[in-house]
Amino acid sequence: MYAYDFDAGDGSNKDLLGGKGAGLATMTQIGLPVPPGFTVSTDACRSYLADNNLDDEVWDEIAEAIGRLEQRTGRTFGAAKGTPLLLSVRSGAKFSMPGMMDTVLNLGLNDTVIEALEAWSGSAHFAWDAYRRFVQTYGKVVLGVSGEEFEKVLTELRDARGVTDDSKLTAEDLEKATRRFQGIVDKKGSAAVPTEPLEQLRAAVTAVFSSWGNPRAQTYRRLNDIPDDLGTACNVQLMVFGDLGDDSGTGVCFTRDPATGEKTPYGDYLPNAQGEDVVAGIRRTFTLDDLAERHPEQHQQLLDVMGILETHYTDMCDIEFTIEKEVLYILQTRVGKRTAQAAVRLVVEMAEEGLIDRDTGLLRVDPASLDQMLHPRIDESQAGEPLATGVNASPGAATGKVVFDADTAVEWVERGEAVVLVRWETTPDDIHGLNAAQGVLTSHGGRTSHAAVVARGMGKPAVTGAEDVIFGDDGKTANIAGTQIKEGEVITIDGTTGHIYAGALPLIDPEPSDELVKLLGWADEVRTLGVRGNADTGPDAAVARSWGAEGIGLARTEHMFMGDRLPIVQKIILEDPQADAALDELRQIQVSDFEQILEAMDGYPVIVRLLDPPLHEFLPTRWDLRNERDKAIESGEPTDEIDALAEVVMRFEESNPMLGLRGVRLGLLRPELYRVQVQAGLEAVRRRVEAGGNPKLELMIPLVSMLSELKQTAEMIEAEKAEAGLDTPVLVGTMIELPRAALVAAKIATIAEFFSFGTNDLTQTTFGFSRDDAEAKFLSDYLESGLLEKNPFETLDVEGVGRLIALAVKEGKAQRPDLEVGICGEHGGDPASIAFCHNAGLDYVSCSPPRVPIARLAAAQAALGFGADRSTI
Ligand code: PEP
Ligand code: MG
Repeated sequence: MYAYDFDAGDGSNKDLLGGKGAGLATMTQIGLPVPPGFTVSTDACRSYLADNNLDDEVWDEIAEAIGRLEQRTGRTFGAAKGTPLLLSVRSGAKFSMPGMMDTVLNLGLNDTVIEALEAWSGSAHFAWDAYRRFVQTYGKVVLGVSGEEFEKVLTELRDARGVTDDSKLTAEDLEKATRRFQGIVDKKGSAAVPTEPLEQLRAAVTAVFSSWGNPRAQTYRRLNDIPDDLGTACNVQLMVFGDLGDDSGTGVCFTRDPATGEKTPYGDYLPNAQGEDVVAGIRRTFTLDDLAERHPEQHQQLLDVMGILETHYTDMCDIEFTIEKEVLYILQTRVGKRTAQAAVRLVVEMAEEGLIDRDTGLLRVDPASLDQMLHPRIDESQAGEPLATGVNASPGAATGKVVFDADTAVEWVERGEAVVLVRWETTPDDIHGLNAAQGVLTSHGGRTSHAAVVARGMGKPAVTGAEDVIFGDDGKTANIAGTQIKEGEVITIDGTTGHIYAGALPLIDPEPSDELVKLLGWADEVRTLGVRGNADTGPDAAVARSWGAEGIGLARTEHMFMGDRLPIVQKIILEDPQADAALDELRQIQVSDFEQILEAMDGYPVIVRLLDPPLHEFLPTRWDLRNERDKAIESGEPTDEIDALAEVVMRFEESNPMLGLRGVRLGLLRPELYRVQVQAGLEAVRRRVEAGGNPKLELMIPLVSMLSELKQTAEMIEAEKAEAGLDTPVLVGTMIELPRAALVAAKIATIAEFFSFGTNDLTQTTFGFSRDDAEAKFLSDYLESGLLEKNPFETLDVEGVGRLIALAVKEGKAQRPDLEVGICGEHGGDPASIAFCHNAGLDYVSCSPPRVPIARLAAAQAALGFGADRSTI
């Protein structure tokens, strides 16, 4: 069976009837005033798409359904007399795809039927307006005529009449419009509008089915993860008219406010209009209160319908209605689209009203959408055109004066300015500048470049990989896609969209609403996966805690070696005679760094990762040294020290530093660097205990690939622990961020007391994609062409990287049953990846502080079974 009358179809079967068809069936069957009609199923569409042919069987059923509709309405399709049967023909897929596919209105008109329509309505104006709308929508949808051609005609007619609104055109104007539209369509040759209504219908149904494959619909599906093989249903329905005079009209309403979630009906109404006029936004619409004044009875009836539908669907509904000569009709309903803020408020209030249970509420909010609520944002309606667009690396918006280096950023911020740091890319050397700036813009690197990762960790907006930003030679200017920007000029970046704007745009501040706090509390009761934060300083750890983090999954310690401390570190690297004194100094400073983090997370585990970045990041570049040398020669100073440093710099220069002397390798080559960190960590624990605290330090060794590396480092740590003589346990563990480590996890677990999956590096090394280059260079092409479905640096590659993780969890836990296992790569804040982590048996996920709420909700959804199909191997 292919054609289902609204009173016969199964309203719960969206797969077959599409969302709109299912809604029409449901509404008809619960007794709401729906104009009669039928749905041609998605089965029919799929069979049409298979060979571009509407099967006879399908067509016969459609023709029979028209016969039933004629009987039911007492109208005749194509009749020259009596009340004509006119139809709307609309697409309607399982998932709503607003505006993506096509609709034909007033189908069934021809030069004979128009006379009957004029007689029935008593209005030539109405009849010709209906006819021109039919030719217009048929021409656009079925024959592919550009809408502009029709608009040009209407504009000419409006200008000639001196009006701005189509409804002010006369019947003669509309007749002219119809004829000229027919002329435009006739130019298409054989493809003119058929006069026979059944032929019109056949063409319209096939056009609706074909529109499933139009590029707009394809893109929408890709962006919204809608499978390509569903097909759309086609709804054929009796036309009712909102443009029969002032006793008629049309509108759209929501059962609650879709922007705020407030429990007040919200809607737009236009008297004497057809539905498309409301959506087109040309005429000023009226509110539901206006409707109450004009049509009190229908307004009350509409409110009743809203109540019925909301109770039936137990969700906020979006409803299209028409009033035809004081009679209310409901044309469509679906679950309404909403902002994140509204989504949260809706589900909390509905759960409290008893309309839904809490679990349903938790499942209804898209965790990723919470991002919108948690960062300052740009009011898009006021934003205008961006100068350029880069990678949206860390959400939120930032406005400030452009500075091109970290020192200037700090200096300007100290004198009270807000700045945006603009760099080719950032290195750990820029950390102080990043910390001071409102946000960061780079022309290089993707979403997991260190700039992006650090910015997200700090909760700062970042746009990276903006290749249209070209830097001037003077270090004080940049050209952003043709616009020259000087140091000190103001720009705004939007890390949510990747847009870069000139000037200051007003920002809207986030406020975690009471409803969000409540919803996250419910999430905590449901989830079994722990949620920690990635934070590097005491204040950041406090922020993570305030968002609900139950510990620190990753404290990166690079910044403890940068800024003012860099010269001390360089002394150690260069094996300066005063290196010992330098080490002492470094240890002292770091003790208080660690104390602050432990204090902010008192009673919760804090994983401190020993130093990770490549050695060369602590050394000046070759170019810096050349400049210094030139200057020294110019002023007649000796160059011995510079030359010695240059020799070291060259010795440590690497082609692939991310695969080079970093992590544990650096720790083994310069054991004193790790040793001071361990000593400082243990001393911080001692002091926290003395202060009455409950520190739970865990020391983590990065970039281990072999047991021997871990063993040697762990022995050093154990020796230091013995020396410190603490009673407080301090766990020693490792990151699993190289494929080899995952493959030999059982061995590694003989020593490691915990694993933390560093999925940024693990993704990089499993794919062999450079995390700093791939996103800006070729990943977007891969994603566009479908070679890759998802960016693996954002959403965990379950098939490959996930397999390594699952293996390591299984073999690690078999070796050491109480092995603590978590993830601290960027994927720890991605809902789909979190579902995987839940199913793979991890103990916790760790992510940047602003993503902690997202992770709490996603972990609850995973516990409720959501995403299980997508997230297991
Ligand atoms: C990782 O590799 O996933 C990780 C967390 O470490 P980093 O990003 O600092 O290399
Ligand atoms: Mg790493």
